[in-house]
Amino acid sequence: MESTLKRTWAEIDLDALEHNYRRLRERIGPAVKFLGVVKADAYGHGAVQVSRLLQELGADYLAVSSIDEAMELRDNGITMPVLILGHTPKEQVGRLIDMDITQAVTCRAKALEYSAEAARLGGTLRIHIKVDTGMSRLGYLCAGRHFDTGVQGICDACRLPGLEAEGIFTHFAVSDEPDEGSAAYTRAQFELFRRVIEATEREMGRPFALHHCANTGAVASWPDTWMDMVRPGLLLYGCGDFAAGLGLRPVMTLKTTISTIKVYDPGTSVSYGRIFRTDRPTRMGVLPYGYADGFLRSLSNRCALMTDHGPAPQRGKICMDMCMIDLTELPQVQVGDEVEIFGRRAGVNDLAALAGTIPYELTCAVSKRVPRLYLRGGAAVERELLLRF
Ligand SMILES: *Cc1c(COP(=O)(O)O)cnc(C)c1O
Repeated sequence: MESTLKRTWAEIDLDALEHNYRRLRERIGPAVKFLGVVKADAYGHGAVQVSRLLQELGADYLAVSSIDEAMELRDNGITMPVLILGHTPKEQVGRLIDMDITQAVTCRAKALEYSAEAARLGGTLRIHIKVDTGMSRLGYLCAGRHFDTGVQGICDACRLPGLEAEGIFTHFAVSDEPDEGSAAYTRAQFELFRRVIEATEREMGRPFALHHCANTGAVASWPDTWMDMVRPGLLLYGCGDFAAGLGLRPVMTLKTTISTIKVYDPGTSVSYGRIFRTDRPTRMGVLPYGYADGFLRSLSNRCALMTDHGPAPQRGKICMDMCMIDLTELPQVQVGDEVEIFGRRAGVNDLAALAGTIPYELTCAVSKRVPRLYLRGGAAVERELLLRF
């Protein structure tokens, strides 16, 4: 279904995505496989469209966070390998097998229930073992005194009926942080991961086909950790501190238009809470872009949005469906003009820094009522609005 409004929309530049993929491929070389992380609707970019392009370009693997996200890909023609990073209830094992989806196994209890269910169904579930080397989230605990029990648990899982252990992976906590303490932590995580791999493979007498750990920070800064496959998300979308340095381009540009302009007398208060008051005759534009579209209300009165003639300060509290920008210094800007919230001209990193958050949160926050417009060679090739008509 198509939106009839030209309100607020996200342009997804598929050429930039292809460019980023190719640049990253060049960086890692032909011996390393490429897993594209497309969880959370590809960080707000559209998991189906992003995955289709990655599949066409020859990426090796995709990763999502849940079985629902995996099913969305299979239902939309994605046939390449897909890894679920999060938990799947054991009742769904049959569907994982039917859809040929790879499941992360994070502890003994999960290994046992997945094995029992797969064996009951007479099928084989492909798994990747997740090792906790210091993220302290999911995975077999292997640090310090847990090393031997961790290794034993992993070997036990790999020998269970109904499970085929294709891969082993871990996740870094601070691979994107430049300070020496973080670097030491990343090195220690990687060292532990290598020791776990060595011990489990020695005990089992065979290697895993895929060892992987490199997220965005590690793809950018830690070539030693690339192993058999890298696993970037953010870099693919051309966001974050490393993107520009690696020659990557932002994939999403979020845009809106000016719906009304009014001129207020000095002393006029603007929006809820009256936190902004004009101190001169003020030419104020209203944008149909508010917190229900993904604008963070905490940015109220603290940011500027990019017009064709320069940045316009945002004024007053951000509302659910609208916000106001000050056009007093930009008399050329007119009703109907486009305003860029973030993207090609106004980097998402800067807006995220202002909000005290990370770019991931801003692209994920772009809500379902914002249509995505997919561009190839500058022309729209697809439009998607995630509303029920
Ligand atoms: C989200 C995620 C990634 C990708 O992280 P980026 O920082 O976006 O590269 C990789 N691996 C796991 C396990 C993840 O959860």
